Amino acid sequence: MAKKACRTCKRIVIGNSCPVCKTSDLTTTFQGIVVIFDVESDIAKKLGITAPGKYAIRV
Ligand SMILES: [Zn+2]
Repeated sequence: MAKKACRTCKRIVIGNSCPVCKTSDLTTTFQGIVVIFDVESDIAKKLGITAPGKYAIRV
């Protein structure tokens, strides 16, 4: 199944809806994947990420 990214939170989603936002507003045309382990890190703050996981850098 193709990987998609949530347009709302940028989380990488497998399936047809984001488990966090409950939205089906997903895109397959995202760029880059970043894995966030620490939500206090600079990259997480820059991307506005509040939960660990895989995220697209640009959606
Ligand atoms: Zn989402």
